[in-house]
Amino acid sequence: MTHLHSGRLEVVCGPMFSGKSEELIRRLTRAKIARQRVRIFKPQLDDRYDATDIVSHAGVRMPATPVASSADIARLAAGHDAIGIDEVQFFDEGVVEVAVHLADNGVRVVCAGLDTDFRRLPFGPLPLLLARAESVTKLQAVCHSCGGEAVYTQRLVNGRPAPFSGETVQIGALDAYEARCRQCYQPGHAGDVAALRLA
Ligand SMILES: [Zn+2]
Repeated sequence: MTHLHSGRLEVVCGPMFSGKSEELIRRLTRAKIARQRVRIFKPQLDDRYDATDIVSHAGVRMPATPVASSADIARLAAGHDAIGIDEVQFFDEGVVEVAVHLADNGVRVVCAGLDTDFRRLPFGPLPLLLARAESVTKLQAVCHSCGGEAVYTQRLVNGRPAPFSGETVQIGALDAYEARCRQCYQPGHAGDVAALRLA
């Protein structure tokens, strides 16, 4: 039974390792215990289309449906009281209108994802979701360098800050991510691209 007044949009964001998936799972597990019809979606980043779990870094898991676009969410969300969207930053911008439409129609929508990319720039549709949501939770991770409160995701290629323009995966390069605080975050420079190619 869906009540119109139960529709709302919630966003859980923060850097990598801040427990976003865990918080998404926690909220939807509670909805499930309250006998709501619950479903979690996640971006289909490869060719598989089988149902898989989302797993938090702490090892908590819940089944999730991989989908190719926000249109799939709109289609498959019918008949649910609460839906979760994990890694929402990877979806097309249409996900914003889909989430708002569902919330307007009585569905509780919980979105989780990275608010900024490794360059500290707003990531995909997430900033637009923040603007439309009733509730925003910004989680912090532990800084891998100093143990302080981390708000950024540091991308390291071969142990050095990834170049600002380094969108693509470098073949043979060791790509790693760390959570960093404002003081420990190291921006990459455009000149690093040439250095990496020579490496
Ligand atoms: Zn730090």
